Amino acid sequence: MQHNNSERLHEEALKVIVGGVNSPSRSYKAVGGGAPVAMERGQGAYFFDVDGNQYIDYLAAYGPIITGHAHPHITKAITKAAETGVLYGTPTPHEVTFAKMLQEAIPSMEKVRFMNSGTEAVMTTIRVARAYTGRNKVIKFAGCYHGHSDPVLVAAGSGPSTLGTPDSAGVPAVIAADVITVPFNDPDAFKDAIEKWGAEIAAVLVEPIVGNFGIVEPIKGFLELINEYTHNAGALVIYDEVITAFRFTYGGAQDLLGVQPDLTALGKIIGGGLPIGAYGGKKEIMDKVAPVGPAYQAGTHAGNPASVLSGIACLEVLKQKGVYEHLDRLGALLEKGIAETAATHNMPITINRLKGALTVYFTNEKVMNYEQAENTDGELFGKFFKLMVEQGIMLAPSKYEAWFITIAHTEENIEATIHAVQNAFEALAK
Ligand code: PLP
Repeated sequence: MQHNNSERLHEEALKVIVGGVNSPSRSYKAVGGGAPVAMERGQGAYFFDVDGNQYIDYLAAYGPIITGHAHPHITKAITKAAETGVLYGTPTPHEVTFAKMLQEAIPSMEKVRFMNSGTEAVMTTIRVARAYTGRNKVIKFAGCYHGHSDPVLVAAGSGPSTLGTPDSAGVPAVIAADVITVPFNDPDAFKDAIEKWGAEIAAVLVEPIVGNFGIVEPIKGFLELINEYTHNAGALVIYDEVITAFRFTYGGAQDLLGVQPDLTALGKIIGGGLPIGAYGGKKEIMDKVAPVGPAYQAGTHAGNPASVLSGIACLEVLKQKGVYEHLDRLGALLEKGIAETAATHNMPITINRLKGALTVYFTNEKVMNYEQAENTDGELFGKFFKLMVEQGIMLAPSKYEAWFITIAHTEENIEATIHAVQNAFEALAK
């Protein structure tokens, strides 16, 4: 497969765009380097790159493209928005319709607010929780990614339940010191943190099903325990459902698992591919937000007709019968195919899958927390990634990311992918 145009484009990009990419996760740094493949077009389950190569897409833009690319219903909605004006700076009927749809699908979001990204949504839930509780500290879980606002770019301190340190240059130590990071799926570490800091905690922030060190489900009772201890400490539970909402069911992970947070942050899928974020929660908490309450949050593009109409159209597609069954069925086929191939080639892998999202880790061990994900073989993944790209299968260039199946994927796509995995494992075994 030729990548001359991608390579040339990357050289040009490096001159004008920092690192040649507009988000660090798009770089191939974590998979041994090289020019990232640049795409020209997406259609259904396929990508077409600038060299004319075709790929089956499992990147799905890191989650949002659950309907596949250029879904006709969403394209029609975006076209309508383009024809009727994409930004008004006034209320619109569409945003009310969309808020009602979200509220109906995720009932814990009694009131919502739209914004432009998942980062903004999470950042604001933290502000609202601080405004509501009058406290500053936040507990989060190691390896969960919550966007790039200061309070969540924080690494764990030197031991369990110590105060955080900045995880990025430019994040003030005073901000990091208000964040405590504990391991996911570790009830004792969480209880310790609450015992130590409970009276100062404003919120506990968690991805109810992790999507950022691969797909990792909570152990039985973990989310219930978080709710119990957090509420007893007088703090709020925030679910970051930027990846998980509408990914596994028509609703949030909270609806799938039957555990409700106080506040929820959304993004990705709910924009149908256009930029969006939203947050919401209990009415009495949301009433802290301006113009009703004292916690400020605003946005020139917030609730813009293009993203909202695209989001409504996306949810209309997802509401159709059989959507999630299709994702689950293809996910199960892919998991089975990869697992069987790995067994044949003696390849040490662990697959974490929930419905249409899965992660293939290069390890024999279980992966239930970030440390275990970190200990998987990144070098082997890097080689595997490149072998898959060369066969026209596009994955995310990181061992920590999920493969996302879309409703446009077919059984034939899955078979072709398993065949490519077979070839890749064969090459790796040599
Ligand atoms: N929260 C989670 C769980 C995410 O996975 C991401 C992005 O990957 C974000 C928040 C940030 O969203 P955005 O990239 O739209 O700012």
